[in-house]
Amino acid sequence: LKTPITSMRVLADSLIGMGDAPLELYKEFMGDISKEIDREAKIIDDLLSLVRMDRSAIVLSRKETDMHEMLEQILKRLRPLAKVNRIELTLHTVREVSADVDEVKFSLAIMNLVENGIKYNGNQNDGYVQVTLDADHQFCYIRVEDNGIGIPEDQQELVFERFHRVDKARSRETGGTGLGLAITKEIILLHQGIIRLSSEEGKGSTFQVRIPLKYIESSTPAQAASQKEKNRKEEN
Ligand code: ADP
Repeated sequence: LKTPITSMRVLADSLIGMGDAPLELYKEFMGDISKEIDREAKIIDDLLSLVRMDRSAIVLSRKETDMHEMLEQILKRLRPLAKVNRIELTLHTVREVSADVDEVKFSLAIMNLVENGIKYNGNQNDGYVQVTLDADHQFCYIRVEDNGIGIPEDQQELVFERFHRVDKARSRETGGTGLGLAITKEIILLHQGIIRLSSEEGKGSTFQVRIPLKYIESSTPAQAASQKEKNRKEEN
């Protein structure tokens, strides 16, 4: 959500800073700002429909996506935040794989996890977030592991609920809304996947995501419900 705003600020500030920038440059930068506004509007639309859990309003545009490439892009975008927080951010690809995902939405889901790993780290010098990509013939596995503050056991299911924050003061300080993990979970479920959390207070958290490589079209509501039930059972 913040990335388009950051881009717009950089574009606007550099124009202001230049004072007598040529008209061509104004046009070019305004064009870029306009594109960022479109992107922001789309993200907000998506978020609103996800928050309402209004599944019928969510259209997934799935296509075969190189997962390693996608994760590299996510890490690239989060590197500045990691740097400010002095967190080492690494990607370990055990197996390169492609999966049928909606790249924008799925990226958002994983980005939330990595961003949380950075935000809720608290380590002064040796903080890290490690992202691991692996696959077998059926599934793609993405693990996001940090050595941060961890999540108390009695909160571990609750963090996936909308607006739930463990430490409200800290979360507000870091700009949290309590929506990130709810959105992440919803997106992963939409991809017929599951997400698991294991965490220990003071030691760190690991989120494990599993999605099928191929999306199976659920032709009837009954099939969709049965798939959802299957996922729910596996999740427990
Ligand atoms: P927020 O916008 O508050 O970050 P999220 O839904 O992403 O909302 O996360 C919910 C809460 O779960 C956070 O407020 C935080 O307390 C906790 N949390 C999420 N990820 C982590 C993590 N990697 N380590 C520690 N706590 C976390």
